[in-house]
Amino acid sequence: MDPIRFAREAASYAGEIALAEMDRLRDELAGDQGKVVYRLTGALVGGRPALRLLIDANPTLICQRCLTPYVHSLHSEGVIFLARNDAELERWERLDPLLDAIVAEERTDVRTLVEDELLLSLPVVPLHEEDDCPRRDDYLGEH
Ligand SMILES: [Zn+2]
Repeated sequence: MDPIRFAREAASYAGEIALAEMDRLRDELAGDQGKVVYRLTGALVGGRPALRLLIDANPTLICQRCLTPYVHSLHSEGVIFLARNDAELERWERLDPLLDAIVAEERTDVRTLVEDELLLSLPVVPLHEEDDCPRRDDYLGEH
């Protein structure tokens, strides 16, 4: 897709990808199950072309409290700004070091964007929801 055109036309695109098909992500997971459902919407944000990316995924991770695998419910919303070239990207990053921006290639791969967003959204310390963790009692106990 041509992402700048996509942004200017405020286009929208939804899809899903099996997590097992994402090689970089798979290295971080405890199993091949699960998928990511995504929606990409073009927009002009503060006058700059951007892509809003919504993702919902259910990767299998290892709980760092009980050390067993569990299905993590992951939801993320990101905005990726689209620079026309390296010079523009550098200028934006100087102005705002936290900005999430890429140089828009004429053929930007949606899968790569989704996988990058997933990798950024994985928890640093994966944990069961408190009520679901078998070691919850150990953790809360010892009064
Ligand atoms: Zn646990």
